[in-house]
Amino acid sequence: MDMIDPFGRTISYLRVSVTDRCDFRCTYCMAEDMAFLPKKDLLSLEELDRLCGVFIEKGVRKLRLTGGEPLVRKNIMHLVRQLSRHLESGALEELTLTTNGSQLSRFAAELADFGVKRINVSLDTLDADKFHKITRWGHLGKVLEGIDAAQAAGLKVKLNAVALKDFNDAELPDMMRWAHGRGMDLTVIETMPMGEIDADRTDQYLPLSLLRASLERQFTLTDIPFKTGGPARYVHVAETGGRLGFITPMTHNFCESCNRVRLTCTGTLYMCLGQEDAADLRAPLRASEGNELVAAAIDEAIGRKPKGHDFIIDRRTSRPSVSRHMSVTGG
Ligand code: SAM
Repeated sequence: MDMIDPFGRTISYLRVSVTDRCDFRCTYCMAEDMAFLPKKDLLSLEELDRLCGVFIEKGVRKLRLTGGEPLVRKNIMHLVRQLSRHLESGALEELTLTTNGSQLSRFAAELADFGVKRINVSLDTLDADKFHKITRWGHLGKVLEGIDAAQAAGLKVKLNAVALKDFNDAELPDMMRWAHGRGMDLTVIETMPMGEIDADRTDQYLPLSLLRASLERQFTLTDIPFKTGGPARYVHVAETGGRLGFITPMTHNFCESCNRVRLTCTGTLYMCLGQEDAADLRAPLRASEGNELVAAAIDEAIGRKPKGHDFIIDRRTSRPSVSRHMSVTGG
């Protein structure tokens, strides 16, 4: 039953984008006048639950809800509650979530009640004006309230920051001290060329090799084998006692150990974040009440999982490497 791709990689991690809609418009993620999918194209929460169940039967052990902003999907807690039965049965090891934090103060306690143990909160700056500028629609205070609520509910919080040249590079040491001071890991991410935005990504792109070199002038960073199932490589920071992760899709391709596939809210399965190839699971899901057709479609798709992504950001390459925005597949 296990899902093993043509390169011998076992797929055990499913990321599910439950909506492509978001209450922020981060400048590196999408254009301000972003067109979203018509609601009628979305899978219902019951259909998403059924599809997740098929993946779990086929060996998925870790499931991450993402988006868009997962906590703006109507009745999302119904799906979390449904999925938590797989934690109770032991079939699923971890149910987690990536969020911008805007709705966390409402939902943190319920997430913890349904067995979520850790979450990732995306936060690119601790400066309220810069936060509003980068997210266009977001308010830092609301996100900080959400982080407080999550920690109060006992959720382990990891912060994710996209490293952006001349935007937050100078601030990252302070963000790291702040995160580590509150018992949170911080992971920095290279911006990826996904979807048209209103800006030139070459102006935003900061290779993390440069960031690491600059951090090493102030901090003692030691590589550690710590893993959370995702692509981050971690260092221990002697001065803060905390962990800093690096996600480097541009400068260091980590595809050889990829264990992930991504499902969208319309039932499209992407076998690689950085490639266009996809498989439709909605039609086989709806064609029969049994799961045989959809299980066969998943096997066929895993058989086409590509070796890796080929992202390029440079002045000569004006088009994004993949046409869809990150909000379709949720990072
Ligand atoms: N709304 C949720 C959030 O903000 O975490 C989940 C979806 S969001 C698309 C997931 C992550 O992708 C966020 O950390 C965001 O900063 C990151 N992201 C969006 N566009 C990106 C890009 N082009 N390159 C790198 N990371 C990106």
